[in-house]
Amino acid sequence: MFGKIEHIGIAVANLKESNKLYEKLLGTSHYKTEEVVAEGVLTSFFKAGPNKIELLEATKSESPIAKFIEKKGEGIHHIAFAVDDIREELARLEAEGFVLLNKEPKKGADNKLVAFVHPKSANGVLIELCQEIND
Ligand code: ZN
Repeated sequence: MFGKIEHIGIAVANLKESNKLYEKLLGTSHYKTEEVVAEGVLTSFFKAGPNKIELLEATKSESPIAKFIEKKGEGIHHIAFAVDDIREELARLEAEGFVLLNKEPKKGADNKLVAFVHPKSANGVLIELCQEIND
């Protein structure tokens, strides 16, 4: 089942500057910075009520975030939904005809298993599913 919007991912050119900006905007400090080496991104997380904001900066030119900014500029990159069983949801979405970018979930930032649905099958919005890893 899909749950709440877990976070909104925002592509930024300069994480340090954007951290300052979002700290001012949200009136709270970011609580975590984390690099996802496999994706070539540096992320930082803010809490906003029950939801989060994830800022994403590219760490290399082949990073999907670098490509996104090159094409569209800074801005909303993806919307992430919390799901309780990511494999079940991926199977359901695939059966419904959605194009999955990941058939198998992978380890993402913030202790989550994540998988993405291609924006072309969701009205131009990149959708992330994420499931908390309980260890
Ligand atoms: Zn995300």
